[in-house]
Amino acid sequence: MTSPTRVLVLNSGSSSVKYQLLDMRDRSRLAVGLVERIGEQTSRLKHTCVTGGDTREQNGPIADHDAALKAVAQELARDGLGLDSPELAAIGHRVVHGGMFFTEPTLIDEGVLTEIERLIPVAPLHNPANLTGIRTARGMRPDLPQVAVFDTAFHTTMPEPAARYAIDPKIADRHRIRRYGFHGTSHAYVSRETARLLGKDPSEVNVIVLHLGNGASASAVEGGRCVDTSMGLTPLEGLVMGTRSGDLDPAVIFHLERVGGMSTDEIDTLLNKRSGLFGLCGDNDMREIRRRVDEGDEEARLAFDIYIHRLKKYIGAYYAVLGRVDAVAFTAGVGENAAPVREAAVAGLEGLGLAVDAGLNGARGDDPRLISPEDARVKVAVVPTDEELEIATQTYALVEKNSR
Ligand code: AMP
Repeated sequence: MTSPTRVLVLNSGSSSVKYQLLDMRDRSRLAVGLVERIGEQTSRLKHTCVTGGDTREQNGPIADHDAALKAVAQELARDGLGLDSPELAAIGHRVVHGGMFFTEPTLIDEGVLTEIERLIPVAPLHNPANLTGIRTARGMRPDLPQVAVFDTAFHTTMPEPAARYAIDPKIADRHRIRRYGFHGTSHAYVSRETARLLGKDPSEVNVIVLHLGNGASASAVEGGRCVDTSMGLTPLEGLVMGTRSGDLDPAVIFHLERVGGMSTDEIDTLLNKRSGLFGLCGDNDMREIRRRVDEGDEEARLAFDIYIHRLKKYIGAYYAVLGRVDAVAFTAGVGENAAPVREAAVAGLEGLGLAVDAGLNGARGDDPRLISPEDARVKVAVVPTDEELEIATQTYALVEKNSR
């Protein structure tokens, strides 16, 4: 029998599971779907069989992750793509926090689960949900290789001066405080795809990747290795995001506590869920913000300008970190779609060799593309991210390697 070539990618959040089934022979998608509002009365499963061009929806309570995965398995089985299929090679799980321990995709066993559990204090929102997804999937197919792909892994190459905060190292080490970075799967994929777009090997190019989605982060990638990134101990640091503040003076927190009378949990919620673009203007969707800017809304204008100012500072900082930059790549929901953001982010940076061509920047497309003028010293690119494909690729490569 030929060896199995399908990989199921699972991204388990606290109340949702996203999934994709891919065939690694041609990296094609066979099925995609999402279960949301798990644990509520209004849960929803949306399943698309890509090969059959068929989308189905189930509405009604789905009690927990176990029930959610069973429902997903049933949907896949209806399309002849069930979890018991001999063509399924592995399940790849997105795991948000791998700390310093996990530097690459890892075959899951009990020891790995214990280690992911030990990291819960630094990822209290994400790692428990990821673990639940893994345990449920292992319960359903205990014999199948299951691989953890970590959001932090790509950033573990950051040198110590970039990864450390300027605090007492003994205290930092005791509490595992350092800059871990997130969105690593996306930064890895996009930096490699950017090199491919330039017709070069990743080891030959330096890229600044700007992952601008609802969460947002920048990274400096030198010859294929991450040397700095904007998120830190948690995803709160760095760029202005949809609902997160990004960088601020840590004393703002003391001030809110001492003078504002807010509790630690209230401040946590304020900075993670009610700040960023949303906190500044009441909207976190860049489409809506641009519409308001175009109508002359001052609040939206200021929010947009603060967002761009921060982005520019990071482009400049990572230019300095890298010394030589071959390309700046925009990706994720905002980066791939919002031409005004790309234009504003590089405006005035001609001295650094950065510019966009208005026509190329305004054109739409699904493929990686250059938007800088032909003779630009530094290329500016739009490179759609594909975290699921990257997780599947890494999972399959590991399983293949182990079966040799
Ligand atoms: P992501 O987290 O990568 O899914 O990105 C989600 C964000 O992308 C949304 O909150 C929007 O702000 C943004 N977005 C999606 N489509 C567009 C668009 N056509 N123009 C501007 N922003 C967009």
